[in-house]
Amino acid sequence: MPRRATKIVATLGPACSDPVILEQMIRAGVNVVRLNFSHGTAQDHIERARMVREVSARVGREVAIMADLQGPKIRVGKFAQGKVMLEPGQKFVLDAARTELGDIHAVGLDYKALPREVKAGDVLLLNDGLIVITVDAVQGEAIHTTVKLGGELSNNKGINKQGGGLTAPALTAKDMDDIRTAMRFHADYVAVSFPKSATDMEMARQLCNVAADEGHRPGLIAKIERAEAIPKLEEILLASDGIMVARGDLAVEVGNAAVPALQKRMIKLAREHDKVVITATQMMESMITNPVPTRAEVSDVANAVLDGTDAVMLSAETAAGKYPLETVQEMAKICHAAEGGEDFKLEADFTGKTFARIDQSIAMGALFTAHHLGAKAIVAMTDSGSTALWMSRHLIHVPIYALTSKVATQRRMTLYRNVRPLFMDTSADRDTALAEVESNLKTRGLVQTGDVYAITCGEPMGAPGGTNMLKICRVS
Ligand code: PGA
Ligand code: MN
Repeated sequence: MPRRATKIVATLGPACSDPVILEQMIRAGVNVVRLNFSHGTAQDHIERARMVREVSARVGREVAIMADLQGPKIRVGKFAQGKVMLEPGQKFVLDAARTELGDIHAVGLDYKALPREVKAGDVLLLNDGLIVITVDAVQGEAIHTTVKLGGELSNNKGINKQGGGLTAPALTAKDMDDIRTAMRFHADYVAVSFPKSATDMEMARQLCNVAADEGHRPGLIAKIERAEAIPKLEEILLASDGIMVARGDLAVEVGNAAVPALQKRMIKLAREHDKVVITATQMMESMITNPVPTRAEVSDVANAVLDGTDAVMLSAETAAGKYPLETVQEMAKICHAAEGGEDFKLEADFTGKTFARIDQSIAMGALFTAHHLGAKAIVAMTDSGSTALWMSRHLIHVPIYALTSKVATQRRMTLYRNVRPLFMDTSADRDTALAEVESNLKTRGLVQTGDVYAITCGEPMGAPGGTNMLKICRVS
């Protein structure tokens, strides 16, 4: 398999919750497995997490587990017939007080506050924007609407308000339970749905820290999918370890046409703040039912790669599609090919930049030297993963091998673009450790005699944040 810098996040679901299929998918290039807490019980997720760890051990490559919280998805209730067909022009009532099942005239709501958060004239989008209704009036608990764009509306479909403005808190009681479940299996990342502010992310982080075992600190991903999150992007980024360009809900709130430009801005801003970024939703949508992607999907994935995303994500394609393995294989090929078309701006990245930290300056020095020397590899010996993260915020064609003696760090780094995390229990003596690293890379076939590589480490060895050395070596 050719080397690929961009990472692949795949969602686990009925179509691939089988060790044989999952093993094939990981071998084909999945780096991060997403557990979607919008579906399934706590026990399902615990079992799936165990399966992921077992399969990854069998394959011999660590993958990260990302627990994706459901968040306050605002939904209609259930229908007596499971669904109704809404016609344009008809009246339809969303009724928070309704206890009986829905019909063609009205349906219940699971978000009881909705009647107080909408007013006459508001546009509501149901089922990912496929159905559009406008609010005529709110009377008590009932929202009276007229259907503008009709279609089939089935049980528990989502509701979004055009332009945003729904105040539901980002973390529901269910999310709090789910965080505890995710910490039981040491989820490497927790994705928070619908955050509106840095406070939402800080709250999630506190809940994770309280629930997690001593020393386990998951990475926090803010899913940017609310209109309100856009003006707050910077503060949300600073409170998170990364963001997800959650194009599904985001497109419904801000309009489809605004999303591609927002994607570019979000990716750029995340990298500038030393955060990771995942581009998600409908990337290979047609492969849910077809064995090959459309040309437009190929371009979409490739463009996310060229925008500089760390990872591209698969949702229903792998969770519920007919071709989970083929989708991963196709995506890996597209990423690899697109990376060949990157243009580097390493100098521009550094213009006007100063670094206050010694470890960060060493990381940038390694990057700069390796790039200009045409080195075959950059090796970062890292405890927390920070050196590898800083290096990976700049596009270059030299692969970064991040060696760590901490499995949690190794898993966390699976998401970083152009970083290949490797486990190595290094000796405390520097010269011995450097010799061990070289023979380790040689044995793995990653460098050969005569190759030049740059290596960073800290002296004394093994202290987090202690990187203070850059050495340029030729493989003996
Ligand atoms: P979801 O999030 O798939 O959990 O809704 C992603 C998105 O909205 O794009
Ligand atoms: Mn979403």
